[in-house]
Amino acid sequence: MGTDLELWFGASDDTPAHLRESAEDMRRRESVAKATCAGCPFVVRCLESELEHGIGGQWGVRGGMTAKERQDLIRTRRQAAVAALVTDVEVA
Ligand code: SF4
Repeated sequence: MGTDLELWFGASDDTPAHLRESAEDMRRRESVAKATCAGCPFVVRCLESELEHGIGGQWGVRGGMTAKERQDLIRTRRQAAVAALVTDVEVA
């Protein structure tokens, strides 16, 4: 599978295109990384720490989620926070 960094982040950006992983290989690699995270005692702390970097600061598998999954979670949390604010304003 390569180095640990490759497990979490995939090949570096300067890897020639013909050596980059396929979409299927990426899904397989991410599944292995996520399974490792599932057994990590720091998974909750790791995830919350990564979420603090915002939508644009997400790379690789961290805290048991892919970058895309964390971006979606950040958006969901923001939407919930805005909805709660609107509800509070309407009630007041
Ligand atoms: S949860 Fe975070 S610290 Fe734990 S294995 Fe996953 S990426 Fe590494």
